[in-house]
Amino acid sequence: MESAISARDRVGVQDFLLLENYNSEAAFIENLRRRYREGLIYTYIGSVLVSVNPYRELEIYSKQNMERHRGVNFYEISPHIFALANNSYRALRTERRDQCILLSGESGAGKTEASKKILQYYTHICPTRNNTHTIRERLLQSNPVLEAFGNAKTLRNDNSSRFGKYMDIQFDYKGAPIGGHILNYLLEKSRVAHQNHGERNFHIFYQLLEGGEEPLLKRLGLEKTNPQHYHYLVKGKCPRVSSINDKNGWKVVRNALTIIGFNEDEIQELMEIVAIVLHLGNIQFGEDEEGETHITTGPQLQYLSQVILFRSSFEGKNPLSLEQALSARDSLAKAIYGRAFTWLVQKLNQSLAFKVYYSSKCSSIIGLLDVYGFEVFQHNSFEQFCINYCNEKLQQLFVELTLKSEQEDYETEGVGWERVEYFNNKIICDLVEEKHKGIIAVLDEECLRRGDASDITFLEKLEDSLGGHAHFVTHKMANGKIRKAIGREEFRLVHYAGEVNYNVSGFLDKNNDLLCRHLKEVLCQSGNHIVSQCFHADELMDQRRPETAATEFKLSLAKLMEILMSKEPLYVRCIKPNDAKQPGGFDEVLVRHQVKYLGLMEYLRVRRAGFAYRRNFEVFLERYKSLCPDTWPNWRGTLPEGVATLVKHLNYKPEEYKLGRSKIFIRFPRTLFVTEDALEAK
Ligand code: ADP
Ligand code: MG
Repeated sequence: MESAISARDRVGVQDFLLLENYNSEAAFIENLRRRYREGLIYTYIGSVLVSVNPYRELEIYSKQNMERHRGVNFYEISPHIFALANNSYRALRTERRDQCILLSGESGAGKTEASKKILQYYTHICPTRNNTHTIRERLLQSNPVLEAFGNAKTLRNDNSSRFGKYMDIQFDYKGAPIGGHILNYLLEKSRVAHQNHGERNFHIFYQLLEGGEEPLLKRLGLEKTNPQHYHYLVKGKCPRVSSINDKNGWKVVRNALTIIGFNEDEIQELMEIVAIVLHLGNIQFGEDEEGETHITTGPQLQYLSQVILFRSSFEGKNPLSLEQALSARDSLAKAIYGRAFTWLVQKLNQSLAFKVYYSSKCSSIIGLLDVYGFEVFQHNSFEQFCINYCNEKLQQLFVELTLKSEQEDYETEGVGWERVEYFNNKIICDLVEEKHKGIIAVLDEECLRRGDASDITFLEKLEDSLGGHAHFVTHKMANGKIRKAIGREEFRLVHYAGEVNYNVSGFLDKNNDLLCRHLKEVLCQSGNHIVSQCFHADELMDQRRPETAATEFKLSLAKLMEILMSKEPLYVRCIKPNDAKQPGGFDEVLVRHQVKYLGLMEYLRVRRAGFAYRRNFEVFLERYKSLCPDTWPNWRGTLPEGVATLVKHLNYKPEEYKLGRSKIFIRFPRTLFVTEDALEAK
């Protein structure tokens, strides 16, 4: 007994539900800290997995360890990402319900690494069928390709995902992975033309320059392989990073592209796009005596396939000012890269699409959601606005699917319980997305309005329509109570995760995301097939105005919510222990903030007040009635009577369960596991 106590002192509890002082945030954090110190980065809150980034390689992800988790019950071994993956796979197999695993946490907390571990687990552990090994390889190799084009070194994370990703893994009726599908969200394409100090452009630029074979680089006009030669790579003053090996990265991507099914021509054309962007960045402009803008850099243009046309679009009939020419150049680079990224995802999807010749149908799905976490910088712009809005939506889903639904269930089922208060962030989602008066609606309206519409008039309109809203503040409304100053060009949103000031500068342009017609015409005729596919002539014929960036994002998020709502959710809540990316460092203030905004304490309270599991009478009976062979199959009573008889037979104690109107509620996970084991032992 004594040794058990000292072990607990040392490593804490592996499930927060077992924490004695479960109302205390300090006790919660202390438990995390103890475990982290012992290299135990995973802890449960019931079925939610909390993970703390170790910032060092742990020897817990080996193939043997994967084997160890196969088919084992969630609570039998210590918390692990594989146990969670296994749990959702079991549920998929036994209950035939689609699952989704939602990874959340701020940038650098470990979401992407966790999602890769989950994918590795499935591709290793699930049964194989003929041909499915190709699909496994492709599923795995989609990651390095997407990371090369969509990840970058930021101040927070050397391999930060700059796009949101939702991936379906499709399984056949025998549980073998047979396909996949990826949805991508809002790539941060502004990074193509600009990076903040200490940050880099997307990895692929450096990988190509560092690792590209000489003949390839020559063909692309990239003989100069030092990133310093390229305007788009020098903004962050950070061409090389000690933790990143670009040369090796190139090999990995090159190999991955081949496995996925790209042929040499396609790889060449893809790299041409990377080169086009670099050359575009190096185009400089000058003004002549008449004040007209001209391209002053010759050599770059020879590598841009439609030299003359490019020239005419920048210097054409309606000459641009110097500033306009530079901004047109950057828009062009961003548009090409952004659309090529979407093209790449489509191409991956073709390669991952399950083929009919596997002679089996896709019967179930596990979805993996890895989107950018909540972001607060010194300077926050349109991108942070969208990212944080996305996080509000995901929090809303958590509220709806766990906090709210859990409690409503007790009510409708007539089961006694203690009400737990929690913050419902729907009010903030509405503030952003409501029709006619939400922030996006006001922004779209300003984007449509010609004349004097500007970022500042947008801010004024916001003040007019949202002034007085509890979660919206500008400097005009700010009073002495507001701690941090709000600039004249800023509005502040009080997010569920904290306050963020957004600078409106650039909001209209980024939301409009328009590329001048002239440039689009050039791109439609491009000799590069990827470019001409991305910019189709139909688009020029279409007179309708395209959706704005924010509205498009809003619509895609609404679709995502629908997808997630239709599945059974499992949560991985990732925590970043320190800002220095240091192994071992545990910054309590930082951790406390994350525990708060991930809603972990609220969730713990709801779970403690409630029941670990609930099952419909029908499902419960169907699954376990074979444990009571004397009564079944000749039983003729009602469902509730049947369940009551069964639990009596299983020796459930009164404190272990409650029967509602249509469901059985089981308080402790262990009760169910004992029953499950009995089933397996049969
Ligand atoms: P996020 O996707 O949440 O922004 P990442 O998953 O990219 O964060 O993690 C950031 C970095 O932290 C990784 O590049 C890796 O160095 C380290 N890391 C994260 N999770 C783990 C882990 N489980 N084991 C070892 N290192 C990790
Ligand atoms: Mg990531």
